[in-house]
Amino acid sequence: MRILISADMEGATGVTWTADVLPQTEQWQRFRRLFTGDVNACVAGLRAGGATDVLVNEAHSSQRNLLLEDLDTGARLLTGRHKPLSMMQGVDSGVDGVVFLGYHAGAGQEGVLAHTYLENSVTGVWLDGEPAGEGGLNAALAAEHGVPVLLVTGDDKACEEARDYAPDAEVVAVKECVSRYAAICAPPRVTAERITAAARAAMSRAGRTPGAVAPHRIEVEFDATHLAAAAAVVPTVTRIGARRVGFDAESMTLAMQAFKVVTAIAAGAVEGIYG
Ligand SMILES: [Zn+2]
Repeated sequence: MRILISADMEGATGVTWTADVLPQTEQWQRFRRLFTGDVNACVAGLRAGGATDVLVNEAHSSQRNLLLEDLDTGARLLTGRHKPLSMMQGVDSGVDGVVFLGYHAGAGQEGVLAHTYLENSVTGVWLDGEPAGEGGLNAALAAEHGVPVLLVTGDDKACEEARDYAPDAEVVAVKECVSRYAAICAPPRVTAERITAAARAAMSRAGRTPGAVAPHRIEVEFDATHLAAAAAVVPTVTRIGARRVGFDAESMTLAMQAFKVVTAIAAGAVEGIYG
């Protein structure tokens, strides 16, 4: 059994604010260790549950956060940016399950450091008419490849969100959201035990199915009108409101590629503190 871990950082043990996840800061250096600890706890559980190969795909920011020197020897690390499937690189490589580790709630929702791709600027994303954060979008991509979501870790809000897009997945809340920048956190030794146990149990659901390619529609709402105007320049994307754009794609893979372009164009159009 081969398993993919998509490892984001905002939902890692102890993380509650910007500097914790901002590369090059002192806080980030500290939280890289806790983040790596969460991943190792997950790898240990997956291996104990029967995984023979675990690929960890870095999914946060510069995608160079985890400490390879401290990584469990039962895993391999895909580190660095510029990957066609981004957070989900490797989901098309014949894996039997995926773990969303360190995930967070979507843009516009309650949750520690909640956002969808862009840290701000995006106020909401809808997939086929339903609100979707990174978890929901990535779960749809996994489904297209017939890959089940086995486990989701993050704050309690990220776990609640997972109930919608992966109702059968195990969840581990490593912290309880108090505000966007505050949480009641369990210490790493406690969260590691929980993550290992859940990962081991989740392996009972591992196993790929044929998957199904289907058309999808994504709509994105921004916090400023010029960002929607900028995004609407992308082919297939139309402006459907003052701050909202939408597009259709023949598959979830193509939808996520278009979404990546939309967010990149919008990010490039942000002007200082006025956004
Ligand atoms: Zn994220």
